[in-house]
Amino acid sequence: MARTTSPSLDLRELPLNSGERTERVVAIEPYPIFLGGQRYQVVPQGEGAEVVIERLSGGYLVTVAMEASVFGACYRCLRELEQQVEARQQEFVPSNPEKWDEDDISPFIDDFVVDLVGLTREAVILALPEKLLCREDCLGLCPHCGKDRNLDECSCEVEQLDPRWEKLKELGLSEATGDNVLGVED
Ligand SMILES: [Zn+2]
Ligand SMILES: [Zn+2]
Repeated sequence: MARTTSPSLDLRELPLNSGERTERVVAIEPYPIFLGGQRYQVVPQGEGAEVVIERLSGGYLVTVAMEASVFGACYRCLRELEQQVEARQQEFVPSNPEKWDEDDISPFIDDFVVDLVGLTREAVILALPEKLLCREDCLGLCPHCGKDRNLDECSCEVEQLDPRWEKLKELGLSEATGDNVLGVED
């Protein structure tokens, strides 16, 4: 497979006839992302993003795929976590963009030049949950005493429960409060 360190690709330079395809690998350096107000580090696995370009009758189909590890703090308990992600995204690039609504064309494509790094980074974000958790049922930190409730129960939560949460509980929405233990407003 062809390797490239170029972060972008000009589709017009590819000698592809309709129905033909070409593949390449684009090196992606580790980079930070922000989810739920916290910083995470994305570390690509393997050689980077695999890119497939297919020439169709009306344009090009560009597919990027990358596996990565994402490192950072659990949204609820702040413990270090590592999340594996398999990102994949496809974009269609029409040969006659002037006939297309601008909103229907990927923001990572500018006049047949594809921003492969930007597209891959977007694919990673889309493949991740909105908030990363060390485990799905992480109990998080006590909003009052700050204790990690995965390790130890504390006695303060019952009597000092925020009245708004009690209201939510009555409504049967107690699940919805779980992500809010750090006091972060959604
Ligand atoms: Zn956690
Ligand atoms: Zn507590």
